[in-house]
Amino acid sequence: MSRIWLSSPHMGGQEEVYVKEAFDTNWIAPLGPHVDQFEKELATYTKVAHAAALSSGTAALHLALILLGVGTDDFVICQSMTFSASANPIRYQGAIPVFVDSEPDTWNMDPNALEDAVKFCLAKNKLPKAIIPVHLYGMPAKMDEILIIAKKYQIPIIEDAAEALGSTYNQNPCGGFGHFGVLSFNGNKIITTSGGGALISNDNSTIQKARYLATQARDPAPHYQHSEIGYNYRMSNVCAGIGRGQLEVLNLRVQQRRQNFEQYQSRMKNLPGVAFQPEQPESFSNRWLTALTIDPAACKGLNREKVRLVLEKEDIETRPLWKPMHLQPVFGGYPYFGGIVSEALFTNGLCLPSGSNLSEDQFNRIFFHLLPLWQ
Ligand SMILES: *Cc1c(COP(=O)(O)O)cnc(C)c1O
Repeated sequence: MSRIWLSSPHMGGQEEVYVKEAFDTNWIAPLGPHVDQFEKELATYTKVAHAAALSSGTAALHLALILLGVGTDDFVICQSMTFSASANPIRYQGAIPVFVDSEPDTWNMDPNALEDAVKFCLAKNKLPKAIIPVHLYGMPAKMDEILIIAKKYQIPIIEDAAEALGSTYNQNPCGGFGHFGVLSFNGNKIITTSGGGALISNDNSTIQKARYLATQARDPAPHYQHSEIGYNYRMSNVCAGIGRGQLEVLNLRVQQRRQNFEQYQSRMKNLPGVAFQPEQPESFSNRWLTALTIDPAACKGLNREKVRLVLEKEDIETRPLWKPMHLQPVFGGYPYFGGIVSEALFTNGLCLPSGSNLSEDQFNRIFFHLLPLWQ
């Protein structure tokens, strides 16, 4: 029996056709017709005017910080409960991450703790250069409240929508609410280009600048001339071909991931101590990963680690929720605002196998080992 993965790549559109086209026309480069088309299609899908296709979501976050002028000792406010790639680029720029706790309604950035963090920065006479909220596991953050605070203090938002392509908030696609949106097409995300990302924005000149910085900051000259430090962050035409095929099936993938969630929820909602990541009325999550918490006090000492280990022995991959950044050894010394919401989520939370390609047999195998743990 083969391993059941948390989230594995799932082809199924015209990926091979587009990739073959790239080979047939010899566009095997970090630019080309698929890159241009993929950017247009991404912008259309997310209802944002412009997109730059890049080598990763991390590269997109890094360029967003550079474009906002983030430098040494600047403050950047970041959701603590996230993957480290949300915060690492802050340190690439020598800036100081200020971490913010989550709220229980969406598991994302707590607007009250956010305002406390802003006030802390202002008390140090520095307006934060950016706010990075995250839509964890595809679940939209409380963007209305976060946008009000961002507007009140005039701080740009970099919306980390790496996990939330296909999710909406008030009927609008995630990634389009901030000054910048960040997407990821890493192998475990809802759609993949094998590796890749995008920076999206309604601001044409900054997206043009992102493309320029991402191709080694070449000045328009016949020789190689550079007035700025550049990066090698562009997406290849071959990867963009995969991405175009994947975009065609994105809505289907969202449907499939939501069906996974519904299956877990219907089989597990009555188990004592189990609570799923909640979805608010204004939100539509792509349910990239089905995530739940297990309260040991409510189920006779069963806890997420016992569940994880039992399933791992059966070659079924699950994963604890993200360990908050303020608890990570590498970020331990930086300011943090909020309580213990994210810490408790980490202690009790688990992500279940959530691939859009999970078979009925695999689901049966998962439930066969999972459900008896509560008996
Ligand atoms: C995956 C991910 C990223 C980074 O994307 P890469 O394409 O892997 O560099 C950033 N933020 C979050 C929340 C992610 O899940």
